[in-house]
Amino acid sequence: MSFGTLYVVATPIGNLTDWSPRAREVLASVDLIAAEDTRHSRKLLQHFGIATPLTAMHAHNEQQRVEDLLGRLRGGQSLALISDAGTPLLSDPGFPLVRAALRAGVRVSPIPGPSAAMAALSVCGLPSDRFTFEGFLPAKGSARKARLAELLDETRTLIFFEAPHRLLDALRDMVAVLGAEREATLARELTKTFETVRLGTLGALADWVAGDEDQQRGECVILVRGASPLVAEETAGIGQEALLRSLLAHGVPVKGAAAIAADLLGGSKKTYYQICLEMQKPA
Ligand code: SAM
Repeated sequence: MSFGTLYVVATPIGNLTDWSPRAREVLASVDLIAAEDTRHSRKLLQHFGIATPLTAMHAHNEQQRVEDLLGRLRGGQSLALISDAGTPLLSDPGFPLVRAALRAGVRVSPIPGPSAAMAALSVCGLPSDRFTFEGFLPAKGSARKARLAELLDETRTLIFFEAPHRLLDALRDMVAVLGAEREATLARELTKTFETVRLGTLGALADWVAGDEDQQRGECVILVRGASPLVAEETAGIGQEALLRSLLAHGVPVKGAAAIAADLLGGSKKTYYQICLEMQKPA
């Protein structure tokens, strides 16, 4: 018996009329749909009259589910993978299953469609010829700043997903690490009633979001212009973490190491201070 096919199917990120007829046909025709949240997806499928059975595959059980789902594919069943919204695997479950299926010789076929990252990039007004998708930043301030500091020299446009309740903190950390003058775009509630796309500097966006609580609701993508190639060239080769480690190893106190890093690499002393503390924590 020949293997079934694993379809990786994008679903709408807000506006249901964005969903393609092919995506709906595939979901109606497969034997089983693996969904991140079956209750959430059932509503969407019911809306379109799709009665295919659902099974849960989410961040906490995806490793365990792979064997069962792979067995079904090997047994000739065709499956579809969907997430709550947008394209699976983009900060959504599915990577272990897709990888295992490909390695087992199963056909994996994308049914492309909405993705918040690509939708935001297409309207952000920042260079889109080269970009890097960073997914979600760490939730904690010190780890978030450390990640941002790693990106200080990145010249490509940066794309971040963010939760609404962390948006303001994330923007403030971006101001602290990347500088208030760096250009950025906030893309909120794309394809929905309160869709907003605003291009400005990080400083101006942080002030705007702080002053308007409505901007702290709903779903959002933050896009940040890459570092200017000149700045990146100046700091190229000097990894901030390597520099801080070396200074600390040579007995420079945390405060001094942070000041030296800020002088050499740009960014704020406070951030480097926090990165030093983070690095000194036991693993
Ligand atoms: N895989 C999905 C995709 O391709 O769009 C993204 C899943 S991720 C768990 C959810 C994040 O995507 C949200 O926190 C937000 O950053 C972004 N997002 C999803 N829908 C959005 C929308 N309509 N407008 C803006 N951002 C959205």
